[in-house]
Amino acid sequence: MFIDSHAHLTFPELKIDLPEVINRAKAANLSAIINIALDDNALATSLKMAEEFPGYIFNAYGLHPHDASGWEDEIAQRVRALAKEKKIIAVGETGLDYHYRLSPIERQKEIFRKFLQLAQELNLPAVIHSREATKDTLAIIHEENQGKLQGVLHCFNGDMELAKQALDTGLHISFTGNITFPKAHSIRQAAKEIPLERIMIETDCPFLAPQSFRGKRNEPAYVAEVAKQIAEIKGLTVEEVAEETTKNTRQLFKI
Ligand SMILES: [Zn+2]
Ligand SMILES: [Zn+2]
Repeated sequence: MFIDSHAHLTFPELKIDLPEVINRAKAANLSAIINIALDDNALATSLKMAEEFPGYIFNAYGLHPHDASGWEDEIAQRVRALAKEKKIIAVGETGLDYHYRLSPIERQKEIFRKFLQLAQELNLPAVIHSREATKDTLAIIHEENQGKLQGVLHCFNGDMELAKQALDTGLHISFTGNITFPKAHSIRQAAKEIPLERIMIETDCPFLAPQSFRGKRNEPAYVAEVAKQIAEIKGLTVEEVAEETTKNTRQLFKI
């Protein structure tokens, strides 16, 4: 059984036929989906989805670095309340994205720090996004880690320096469909080097459909393609990769 450790089910592309999306996920042997909610509306919908599919959809809540400018202190209060009611299993995604710079860098850093503090205060793992921001991501992780930071570096881009230090800190690394792209040599090389017991798999759907579905809408069922690629790289069976990544995900998110 697989787990999609990072999906955005509330995006219109997926919300529109969610019951079918979930049916296909079940048919593809997924035992759970971690849904990432990134604003108020998404959160409300996500909470309903989790009620509708109990024990199958689990939610994380955060603010994407793109939207760091939209931070309000109420978000921290909401995260605390959700954690207390056990309605979220992780904080995030949060992090730094210097590719588009949709929010000013200083603001992204400030909000990333807040989320890492919040995650540790609430004893929840952090879902971390880092794009073209390796140096600052690592600096903030090191500065904010009070020795109990847990989490995952999601949508891993193949930067081994980032991976090594993240692994040293105790974080997990999650691979998405881009590991299947023809040019993704560095991502595949990283998957070879990173121990399986620290690897998780995800789709980041509706984005980043794997090569066999490239250009189409991505959905949780396709996470099997990521497992297949990792199995090939590591000389393992897909079942072995599925079993271990599922175990890792269940342990980290305590589900
Ligand atoms: Zn992300
Ligand atoms: Zn995401």
